[in-house]
Amino acid sequence: MEIKIVKTVNPKQKTEEDSLIFGVEFTDHMFEMDYTEGVGWHDAVIKPYGPIELMPSAMVLHYAQEVFEGLKAYKTPNGETQLFRPQENFKRMNRSNERMCIPQIDEDFLLKALKALIKIDEDWIPTSTGTSLYLRPFIFATDPFVGVRVSQTYKLMIIMSPVGSYYKGGLAPCKIYVEDEYARTVRGGTGEAKCGGNYAGGLAAQEKVHAKGYEQILWLDGEKRQYIEEVGTSNVFFLIDGVFVTPSLEGTILSGITRKSVIELLKHWGETVVERRITIDEFYELYQQGKVQEAFATGTAAVISPIGTLGWQDKEMTFNHGDIGAYTQKIYDTLYGIQTGHIKDTLNWIVKL
Ligand SMILES: *Cc1c(COP(=O)(O)O)cnc(C)c1O
Repeated sequence: MEIKIVKTVNPKQKTEEDSLIFGVEFTDHMFEMDYTEGVGWHDAVIKPYGPIELMPSAMVLHYAQEVFEGLKAYKTPNGETQLFRPQENFKRMNRSNERMCIPQIDEDFLLKALKALIKIDEDWIPTSTGTSLYLRPFIFATDPFVGVRVSQTYKLMIIMSPVGSYYKGGLAPCKIYVEDEYARTVRGGTGEAKCGGNYAGGLAAQEKVHAKGYEQILWLDGEKRQYIEEVGTSNVFFLIDGVFVTPSLEGTILSGITRKSVIELLKHWGETVVERRITIDEFYELYQQGKVQEAFATGTAAVISPIGTLGWQDKEMTFNHGDIGAYTQKIYDTLYGIQTGHIKDTLNWIVKL
């Protein structure tokens, strides 16, 4: 399929790199492609970023048939543009599509489209430490019909946002609260799919923990409210007695590409990583025995977030005296170093533009 290109005649003013805020500003162009049952995906176009037309009856607005992805483009010290494991994102998008009854996409074609879009807005990629161009592909149902069924038409878009350093002044430990009232998902639900509905259902919990003075939620499983699952928009790891532990993927947890990369990196270093179910009760017991050495969350937005404090009911757990653990720092430095081209990509994760 050809990609039509319509360039903007009004390039926007760019914000200074040190005042970039996550997800607020978007580049000059976007990618768009439509799907019609019986025809397939068609009309791929890169055009100026701007509003889209949608019927008020568009199905996505009523029943949330939608999926999305998130990845980043980085500038290397010698001015090249590179992506971190983008094929994994499109593979995962197709898994989400399957769960949400959205037609499959051609992963190779989309990577080509993404590269073409980045190329056009390449001068939007910020270069200072901690910055990157956040890429957001998403698909939504567009049938003008207020009834519950699978849509026959869809729109796929990619928009891009220059983002600043997630942590001003380097990595900083965060405060997380263990949610034991609200549930994110259950087995058989949509927890494994990267879809907007999962987030809508989590907002009430997010508001609650913010009011308590915490930044993020640690979700427990929806059935027993016992098994540790993941943190807000990230997966979670603990260093317990010299062994890295992360909850196993049992159908309710989003399979993070950062999670997968951290596991591969740790194994490459000769560390032991165990993917298993772990209850909050067991975790608290290990904590009381002084065995929990480090805790951190993993995701594209922040790469690695050290967890300084974990609140649970009326208890508060602190790891590594509330400071960043040595391993947490080393993992961050290595992953971020590979992503930005400061460290050699020996694991073949990088795709150049
Ligand atoms: C995107 C996401 C993650 C992290 O995935 P990465 O591929 O590492 O960015 C974790 N949990 C949820 C719920 C997510 O949506």
